[in-house]
Amino acid sequence: MKRTLPILNRVVVKIGSSSLCGSDHKIQAEQIHELTSQVAALTKQNIEVVLVTSGAIAAGIGYLKENNASLENHQAAAAIGQPILMRYFQEHFQTYGHHTAQLLLTHDDFQARRRYLSARNTINYLLSNQIIPIINENDSVSTEEIRFSDNDYLGALCTNLVSADLFIILSNIDGIADKNPLEYPDARIFNQLTLPELERLKDQFSNTEVNGMGRGGITTKLEAPFMAARYGIPSIIANSRMENILPRLIGGEILGTYVEPEPSQLNSWKAYIAHALRPKAVITIDAGAANALKQNKASLLASGIISIEGNFSRGDGVRCCLSDGTEVLRGIVEYNREEISKIAGLRSDEIENILGYRHRRGVIHRENMVIV
Ligand code: GLU
Repeated sequence: MKRTLPILNRVVVKIGSSSLCGSDHKIQAEQIHELTSQVAALTKQNIEVVLVTSGAIAAGIGYLKENNASLENHQAAAAIGQPILMRYFQEHFQTYGHHTAQLLLTHDDFQARRRYLSARNTINYLLSNQIIPIINENDSVSTEEIRFSDNDYLGALCTNLVSADLFIILSNIDGIADKNPLEYPDARIFNQLTLPELERLKDQFSNTEVNGMGRGGITTKLEAPFMAARYGIPSIIANSRMENILPRLIGGEILGTYVEPEPSQLNSWKAYIAHALRPKAVITIDAGAANALKQNKASLLASGIISIEGNFSRGDGVRCCLSDGTEVLRGIVEYNREEISKIAGLRSDEIENILGYRHRRGVIHRENMVIV
């Protein structure tokens, strides 16, 4: 029997420190080689992969005089270890003809919409250039107040950030079990969990302590897929050391635990735009543009804009209406008010003459809009 998965165009794979390090807490090059070869196999199937990987602290801590859990020790270890970690990934991906890119994010980047949008656009752009984005928390600047509690949460947020079709959490456990599998060898792994089932397990494990190298643990292995499921995205929690695990999971083999998503009509990003975004202004567009947007799934171009009302910056939400006030769409603008007032009604090739530059994604890119 096979597991039924959604169509997979884009997958976020979160790799924990325990998946990259040996019992001596040192990075194992052969393990990185193994996982990069599996990611390369996924890209061969035309699946875009975004990696969220831990391991910076583990890679750097040995260079410090002390190995303690203080914030400053971890910040310094991450600053040392992050380039080491990246060098491993770069070298190994290169053997499969892939280039990599590094993004270091903090919790704040997910709160400030402009930074969120920037990160999203950068990742999309990298993927469209067949580059593999490798994300980690920017541990060196993260303080207790603003840090993610661990990379499991970061992975879940990234899954939503890039509108992935699946979130895979690779760890040192075989999946989510009825007991802590690291303590009880007879723990039974669940093949599949619904959101209410996961919620019950979250309560059951709420007092479990973290062990091992990373900051996460059983509780975050439950919380992160829970978050993804709420965004409408399924997750699989599986053991990174299981042979050829990524291609097998993608092929539908029943390994690890699959967490079913909440049914959602819109993907999480579009749901955010439709439900959470507060429009700051109204852009009046002509009927021709409105029809093209509805029918062709096109982006909003400057040529279709008649007027603007309200003040806004790049990255803000706006409503687009017809002259009679009928709302056509909500979306996130690529230009600020001043820029749009200068280019309204112009063809795309005229914009550069007026502004001196042009964003290639139109005034509102179709990925960043919801037709009402
Ligand atoms: N960001 C940390 C690192 O790269 C790991 C955080 C975690 O353990 O989840 O070392």
